[in-house]
Amino acid sequence: MSKKNPNVKVREANLLEAVNSNSNNVDTMLEKVQEIDYTCTFEKCKSKTKNFGIECKFCKGRFCTSHGLPEIHGCGEAVRREERTKFLHQNPTVSQEKHSQAQTKLKMKLKQLQQERKSKGKPK
Ligand SMILES: [Zn+2]
Ligand SMILES: [Zn+2]
Repeated sequence: MSKKNPNVKVREANLLEAVNSNSNNVDTMLEKVQEIDYTCTFEKCKSKTKNFGIECKFCKGRFCTSHGLPEIHGCGEAVRREERTKFLHQNPTVSQEKHSQAQTKLKMKLKQLQQERKSKGKPK
């Protein structure tokens, strides 16, 4: 369903390759796996994210500080989609609140008018 993000590396494939090509040396294999795990997920970026990485909740990638923003590494659309969903879910509550507020105002106005009429109708 979700479109593939062209800026993001396919980590699973890289990991699998590292595991397969170093299967006779566990130390090297683990090293390679860690290296892949701690490298920025952004395509063509070799920055290390071991000490400080930004994880993206949309593509599950781990990025260096310069590629951490969803808009930068290509998840901008996912962010907008989420914001739109949030907005759509929030909107009914907001409009309902406004509606009831308006109703309360209307009721108060009616009460006021009734009272005014009562006091005007009083005989002198
Ligand atoms: Zn992302
Ligand atoms: Zn990066």
